[in-house]
Amino acid sequence: MSERIAVIEGDGIGKEVVPAAIDVLEALEIDFEFVEGEAGDAVEESTGEALPAETYDLVADADATLFGAAGDTAADVILPLRDAVDSFVNVRPAKAYPGVDALRPETDVVFLRENTEGVYAGHEDRLSEDLSTLTRVITTSASRELAEYACEFVADGRGPDHRDGFTVAHKSNVMRETDGRFREAVLDVAAERGVDADEELMDAFATKLPLDPSQYGVVVCPNLAGDVLSDLAAGLVGGLGLLPSANVGHDNALFEPVHGTAPDIAGEGIANPTAAVLSAAMLLEYLGHVEEGRRVRTAVESVLSDGPRTGDLGGDATTEDVTAAIVDRL
Ligand code: ATP
Ligand code: MG
Repeated sequence: MSERIAVIEGDGIGKEVVPAAIDVLEALEIDFEFVEGEAGDAVEESTGEALPAETYDLVADADATLFGAAGDTAADVILPLRDAVDSFVNVRPAKAYPGVDALRPETDVVFLRENTEGVYAGHEDRLSEDLSTLTRVITTSASRELAEYACEFVADGRGPDHRDGFTVAHKSNVMRETDGRFREAVLDVAAERGVDADEELMDAFATKLPLDPSQYGVVVCPNLAGDVLSDLAAGLVGGLGLLPSANVGHDNALFEPVHGTAPDIAGEGIANPTAAVLSAAMLLEYLGHVEEGRRVRTAVESVLSDGPRTGDLGGDATTEDVTAAIVDRL
């Protein structure tokens, strides 16, 4: 039976980079059924809803989803879609490639960010004219689930080659109750599974990562810390146009480039399709098409190294030129 892939281009350059990624997937001749859904600013304008119920259901019922970007409605689209795939971990690799100018060319780290709780799940209250509060939520169960995913991730050899095990980043010296619980749960699971795990205080980590990224491989973080620290790593590798991500759930997952709609270049056909194509490579690996995923990565790396390149990487090629070159290298 064919696998059903929900495809949501969304707004801006999502309309350019998602079709590029689909071209690459189609070139592999896997038995995929692609089903398009609508979400984002344009649908909200025409229907009043940024995320129509049909799109939510399409994603919930698919084997996996490839998503582009949404503009002003991003939060109204992506938060419910993460929920539709029941995502408990956000996977964000940040890798520098030969041929791309990077602040730290030796960077090759994968962030595994808790995707359901922390301050983002907390309740904010305005208690008076002067005082607002936020409750931070950390459970042992969600922390253990993330750690179990991390242990499988490293056991499957999906982490960078230069480091065994994983690092857990937290701030349990100050947030003793919440991050104390997170730290203990994650290190417990690592010990039970026999996986090497070391730890860093997240502020120290934020200094050490840019100074020497080669000491880190897989990094496990609570929600907000993972959001901020993975963006820091993105800055080390040379551009938003390169970075893919995955929201992984128990039997579903959604893949999306880290970048947004890039309104400054949208509609011109010059967006870099790499982040979307690498998101498609993560989708392939998630669905068990590991060899095809590896082929896509190799083709992307070859094009990054030899060109053609889009404007963000100093070239003058179009999205189509780069996509055709990737397909050609396959
Ligand atoms: P949004 O609100 O949708 O996130 P944004 O204005 O923050 O939009 P981003 O998409 O986050 O824009 O991009 C930030 C900058 O990086 C822009 O200048 C954009 O052109 C550039 N950029 C992002 N993605 C790409 C890409 N795939 N190719 C080329 N340039 C990109
Ligand atoms: Mg943005």
